[in-house]
Amino acid sequence: MVEVTEGVYFIQGQDEMIPDSHVYLVGEPSSKDLSFIDAGMIGKGDYKVNSIKNLGIQLEDIKRIIMTHTHMDHIGCLAEIQEQIPWAELWMHTLEAEPLEQGDDRVVYGMEMFRGICEMQYGIKPGAFKFQVDRKLQGGENLEVGGMTWEVLHIPGHSPGSIGLYDRASKTLIPGDVVYADYAIGRFDLHGANGPELKDSLMRLAELEVEILLPGHNRIVKDLPEGYILQTARQWEMYLS
Ligand SMILES: [Zn+2]
Ligand SMILES: [Zn+2]
Repeated sequence: MVEVTEGVYFIQGQDEMIPDSHVYLVGEPSSKDLSFIDAGMIGKGDYKVNSIKNLGIQLEDIKRIIMTHTHMDHIGCLAEIQEQIPWAELWMHTLEAEPLEQGDDRVVYGMEMFRGICEMQYGIKPGAFKFQVDRKLQGGENLEVGGMTWEVLHIPGHSPGSIGLYDRASKTLIPGDVVYADYAIGRFDLHGANGPELKDSLMRLAELEVEILLPGHNRIVKDLPEGYILQTARQWEMYLS
């Protein structure tokens, strides 16, 4: 785990057969008001929590888990992490919170074939991804947490309730799986995904000044070239309409 910029820590995903999303821990440690961004794949809960402990961060200081979206590779080990920090609230966009609260886990699996693979591989029982959500985000909120201000951006297309978190002060964007380094974008063929919506979301992100890009997978970028997101959107435009 490394500090990317002041108050933003990076825990790299441990990809195996199925990818494991990165986790970001945000907030000034002295604030004792830290937020876990995303969880990761099934079985990766201990790795994520131990990475945080190894940095000398007190688990009591983690007050909430915010999900960029609820695909399996991000929410798979949420229950494992909740066991270790049961006091932490769970925040996510309402469009993914409401189905999950009712036990509708289609967004988690993305496609029915993947459900079968996961149930066989990991022995997952039906209902394993029913969660109570403490705060349902809409997009447009300014989250004043941990001595920082994170703007919530609703950026659907990769999944219906995908959110980005943006810190204007440090020009840091956590876009989930909407946009990655190296001109890559998230897939848009899973349950609730939508190409034109993804294009609109990318165009909205392109309006932000972003220097530090912290996506859900692959490498992070600390000196993003100006216009990077716009260029990425343009490269993918013809596939997204
Ligand atoms: Zn995803
Ligand atoms: Zn992912």
